[in-house]
Amino acid sequence: MEHFYTLQGEGYHQGRAAYFIRLGGCDVGCVWCDVKDSWEADKHPKYSIECLINQVKKTPAEMVVITGGEPLMHNLDELTEEFQAAGLKTHIETSGAHPLSGQWDWICLSPKKFKAPLKPILHLAHELKVVIFNKSDFDWAEKYAASVSPACKLYLQPEWDKATQVTPVIIEYIKANPQWELSLQIHKYINVP
Ligand code: SF4
Repeated sequence: MEHFYTLQGEGYHQGRAAYFIRLGGCDVGCVWCDVKDSWEADKHPKYSIECLINQVKKTPAEMVVITGGEPLMHNLDELTEEFQAAGLKTHIETSGAHPLSGQWDWICLSPKKFKAPLKPILHLAHELKVVIFNKSDFDWAEKYAASVSPACKLYLQPEWDKATQVTPVIIEYIKANPQWELSLQIHKYINVP
């Protein structure tokens, strides 16, 4: 759908330079999705892996973030193998709703209520990032926190349009449950893609 060099705005690697590749296609159907244009894969152009690597290599990027859409609707074995062979770190942002493919240096699992993640990805996630839209989402977050590995980083992130209302609630929740950390979409505050 698009690719661009920017700063990672969310989660553990927030603030680090990263080359984003947004793949088209998503069948998860989050009501608050901010990239609904990604849902239909066929609407978007196709690029060869070589072409994408060449684009990334025009920048000093060390980290490539594969996002979507739901990137695991595609088999990512070849893509990630070639990116790693080119010396790039491969990161993914996924709902986990489709089988995991690819070789990853970092897996950010962001489960969605609209289509639950598949079990095998839970213990492989390096980071669990739960978007908080309303108070019932905290229970949802805890359910998945209990299923990931003990080393997995835990993040709560306010849904952007609800941020004014839910951020103070998240702050209090984290103060009471300090295993969680706050993730803000800082790219939206600093106006980068
Ligand atoms: S999984 Fe991501 S791209 Fe798909 S509907 Fe939800 S927020 Fe949008």
